[in-house]
Formats: sequence, C-alpha cells, structure tokens
Amino acid sequence: MNNLEFFNRNEARDFINKNKPMAIIPTGSVEQHLNHLFIGMDINSATKIAEELANKFSKNTIFYRPLNVGIAEHHMAFPGTMTLRVNTFIGVLTDVVNSMIRGGITKILFINGHGGNTEPMRTAMQNINLEMKGVHSNIDTSEVRSHIDYMELLNKDSEIDIKYTSYWEMHDPNFIKEVIKDPNYPGHAGEYETSLGLYLFPDFIDKDLMKNKPLGTANHATKEKGKLIYEDLIEKYSKLLQEMFN
Ligand SMILES: [Zn+2]
Repeated sequence: MNNLEFFNRNEARDFINKNKPMAIIPTGSVEQHLNHLFIGMDINSATKIAEELANKFSKNTIFYRPLNVGIAEHHMAFPGTMTLRVNTFIGVLTDVVNSMIRGGITKILFINGHGGNTEPMRTAMQNINLEMKGVHSNIDTSEVRSHIDYMELLNKDSEIDIKYTSYWEMHDPNFIKEVIKDPNYPGHAGEYETSLGLYLFPDFIDKDLMKNKPLGTANHATKEKGKLIYEDLIEKYSKLLQEMFN
C-alpha cells in the first residue's frame, strides 16, 4: 500500500509525477459507540476500506490519513469522546486538499465513516473543489456571463476532482433491504455498523453487551453480514475509483 508518510521525497515526487495517483483519505471520529463497540470504530472502519482500496489499486493511488478525530459535539456527554470544532475540521482538511493539489495530486477521494462529518464536509468540499479548479486550472473567464457558466466551465475543463463520500451511502438500497433488518439504517452502533465491526474488529466488540442492546438495534448484527457489507463496499468503491481514473 502506498502510504504517503513512508515515501521519501524523491519517491513521492517520482510516484506522483509518473503515476498521477489519486489520493484516498479516510475520515471518521473517536467517539462513544454505546456499550459494545469501541470508541475508534468510525475512523478505523473508514481506514480499513481506504487501505484495502489503496492496496488493490497500488499503481494509481496514494493513501493518507491526516486526522483520526472528527466532529462529535453531540457525543460529548461520554468521556473519551474527542471532537474538533466544525471550522477546525474543515480547515485542516481544506489545507490538506490544497497541499495535495499544489504537489500535483489532482484527484482526491474521501471515505468518511462518521455521520457528524457529513453535512459540514459536503458543503466545504464542494467549495474547495470549485476554489481549487478556479485557482489552479487557468480557465479563461472572459466569456463568462453568469455563475452557472462559470461552474460549468470549471467542471468541464479541470483535472481537479474531489469527492467526499460516506461509506454507508455506497450500497444499493436493495442490498441493504436484503441484509439489514433494522429500519433505523445506518444508525449508530446498530445492526449495520456492529456487523461491520464484528467482521473487521472482532476483538474490540463486547458480544455480551451487544446482546443487552442499549438502544435495541444491534441484536441482529452478525459477522457474516459484516463480510457482505465490507465486500459490497470494496466493489462499489472500486467502480467509483475506475470512473475517477478515466
Ligand atoms: Zn459510528
């Protein structure tokens, strides 16, 4: 796997210049996950998915994890939960995107594992996407008559492509209907997430407390469902990566 942190500067320069890799960046959270799931579930699940994809597409990708903490103010009643302020989180990731583009990485895929990050980051990444295209793509704006013209021009002529995805949004709704019984999907530490946890991190899940079902939503979770979910995620993300490479 091409983890950016373990390249030296010459290797990083050569790899980026020659292979024009896409960056894969996991984001998540360090926050309470009821009694049965571990606190680092969100960042570690997103990281596993990102690492697997970076391994699978090792010639065309580079893996980098700038942060493990996310936006979790709504979980702060539980000690051990970490949160960044919205502006801090967005600020750090915006600067990371900016640094990558300045270094020649023009395609960036975020794989997010935490619900609290989703809305602020979607807005922020739409804006940084436009800003970077505007700053770095040398687009001739002399014929632009409206902001719509401008956005069309940016999206058409730029090599810069930044996508922010949350992994639970990648499935086909029919797949979820078949696999997950709980109507509260994706939920928090519920059937979906607990199944994935049982498959990826069996040692960090308390199966007895899972049965106590604090919110009554994890009792149908199984390792087998987790495997189906994980394999579907890798398949769906692989398709998205192929689209972004072309
Ligand atoms: Zn979670």
